[in-house]
Amino acid sequence: MNFLDSSIDFLPRTSPITLRKLHSLEIKTYWDLLNYFPFRYEDYSLISKINALQEGETCTVIGEIVEAKYEFTKRGLKIQKVRLSDGTGLIDLAWYNQPYLLRLFKPGIKLAVSGAVKSFGNKLIMDPQEYEILTGEQMIHTGRLVPIYPEKKGLSSKTLREKIHYTLNQLILNKELVADPLPEEIIKFNDLLSENESYQNIHFPKSRSLEAKARGRLAFSELFTIQLASNIIRREWNREKVANKIILDAAKDKKILSLVKSLPFELTDSQKKVISEILKDLQSSQPMNRFLQGDVGSGKTVVAAIACYLSTLNGYQSLFMAPTEILASQHYKTINELFKYTLRVSLVTGSLKSDKEALKADIVIGTQALIQKKISFEKVGLVIVDEQHRFGVVQRTLLKKKGFNPHLLTMTATPIPRTVALTIYGELDMSVIDEMPKGRLPVKTYLVPLIKREDGYRWISEQIKLKKSQVFIVCPFIEESEVETMKSVKAATVEFDRLRNRVFQPYRLGLLHGKMRSKEKDFVMNQFKNGELDILVSTPVVEVGIDIPNATIMLIEGSERFGLAQLHQLRGRVGRSDKQSYCFLFSEIKDKAVEDRLTFFSKNQSGVELAEYDLKRRGPGEIFGTRQHGYVDLKIASLSDYALISKTKKAVLYFTKHFANFSKFKVLKRRAEEYNITQISRD
Ligand code: ADP
Ligand code: MG
Repeated sequence: MNFLDSSIDFLPRTSPITLRKLHSLEIKTYWDLLNYFPFRYEDYSLISKINALQEGETCTVIGEIVEAKYEFTKRGLKIQKVRLSDGTGLIDLAWYNQPYLLRLFKPGIKLAVSGAVKSFGNKLIMDPQEYEILTGEQMIHTGRLVPIYPEKKGLSSKTLREKIHYTLNQLILNKELVADPLPEEIIKFNDLLSENESYQNIHFPKSRSLEAKARGRLAFSELFTIQLASNIIRREWNREKVANKIILDAAKDKKILSLVKSLPFELTDSQKKVISEILKDLQSSQPMNRFLQGDVGSGKTVVAAIACYLSTLNGYQSLFMAPTEILASQHYKTINELFKYTLRVSLVTGSLKSDKEALKADIVIGTQALIQKKISFEKVGLVIVDEQHRFGVVQRTLLKKKGFNPHLLTMTATPIPRTVALTIYGELDMSVIDEMPKGRLPVKTYLVPLIKREDGYRWISEQIKLKKSQVFIVCPFIEESEVETMKSVKAATVEFDRLRNRVFQPYRLGLLHGKMRSKEKDFVMNQFKNGELDILVSTPVVEVGIDIPNATIMLIEGSERFGLAQLHQLRGRVGRSDKQSYCFLFSEIKDKAVEDRLTFFSKNQSGVELAEYDLKRRGPGEIFGTRQHGYVDLKIASLSDYALISKTKKAVLYFTKHFANFSKFKVLKRRAEEYNITQISRD
């Protein structure tokens, strides 16, 4: 096995705790470690003699420890004081409250220290920011451009730097990464640094300009890999055949038309266009793999229902999967109403095996457990996956494992910016509903500063009293992790009590959070749906896609913590009828950037534009925040880099034209294949 693919569990001088932390960052192999990138650098490359130091400069001194001792400040703080000599002079360094340092710092030891030079009384001292005891030749933490890594899960930048440095050194010994995985033509044409040099220079840059080139190359590789992955999937799908072929003859066409006529509303042009795209796909012998994107409330469900109907008319079953049981039962109701109870529609939740009859229905609605459990269906023609913003690669794989190969329709309300669509979905079939049903009023959106909070509450109370409005109140978003979930549950509970006891005393409030059992959740949701609650307080994980037309007010606490796409999702819970709806963004942060962002949101109702706004405003320091987009976990490239995306797209085209069999590009092929499974389809 290659060194890079081997497990980091044998990293020298690494404690089990550190290993566990690395694992929790999804760093399992040396390759993963190499792909954990710094987000900035400290410039400690100026190495200075002590007698040449100047106040105000940041640099590195190298010398021998002549003295190391404790001292107490007037306030009783313990300082570790070190005096360093390099033959040209002496300099004093002080660390605060790090007593273990004195176990390392013994007189006679050779030490390199980097930091800012300051004057103290009539002499110069250094504020040490990094140090290292010099044993070998190489300096890792001082005397160079020093990488700073995102510190997560309690891992320090220093530890990461050390482990990555070790990995890069091993690489040189193992002669890996010497052969570049990309064809020479593509490297030359795009003026790229070699991959090997890029990894060396992104972590330990020899210069700023090499660092920039390294970053450019690795971003190129990343986008290239994703696009190649998407291209490979496409080619594989093109070779497949559906198990149950669907036809659309005149008789069936007539039936579909009369279903459409029987709807209580007229389909929008967008819906009609998408329906015809889907019906066309369904008649192909290649399995459909279409991704349907449409803002919340744009009417995706009816589109899905019509697709199911064609499958039914052909004598095949359709499976309709929702992310939660609440949504599944909502779909069950909607679809039954659409077909006026003329089709056999079943809702399968809980124990699947016990319900043999339900599994034979024309349309089987349930959660993802439908295809995950060991149950079999007889003749599935179509599978629909609702509210899934990841492309259905996993579902596809699961379905194939179960031995059938039906048409697949994945639906999402998550707005997908143009660049993302090009990158990830470029090779895949995508339909967009870009129009709202007629008669919908835009949701009036207001940013509410702290001082206006009480007024806001009062206004909402009046609306409940006068207009019987129903209100969602969403609590602040706290980062996702097990511990954090508990924190946000607690925060929501506290907020719920406060609102119930102090703010909205006369009204009926309900609480919904992620830690409730699904029965309890259903109960509260149904209460709200049936108008037995005026206000629903919830954690940010409110079920997506819930349809409660009478809810007209959405209040979002800590709104600055949400991405605009998320805010848009939340806002989409209201504005689902012909009544005027309102969205209030509460924020306690007084900050120009936050205000600008939220103001932009309050004036804009297009999901895609909002997503693009967020994408553009992410600085390089926030690259690691891309997960929040939910599109794809990019490590280094930016999805707003339109120029690079089209460059890599051209490169992939060139590659597939000339090297389609991958014979000389095994590494590239493997990376692209791994990408499918671990990135596009994760969730
Ligand atoms: P989403 O795309 O968010 O899943 P839904 O399918 O839940 O949206 O539709 C939202 C609401 O709009 C539903 O009550 C649905 O009946 C209604 N609806 C769908 N299409 C139209 C239309 N063309 N005109 C009016 N109302 C529609
Ligand atoms: Mg929906």
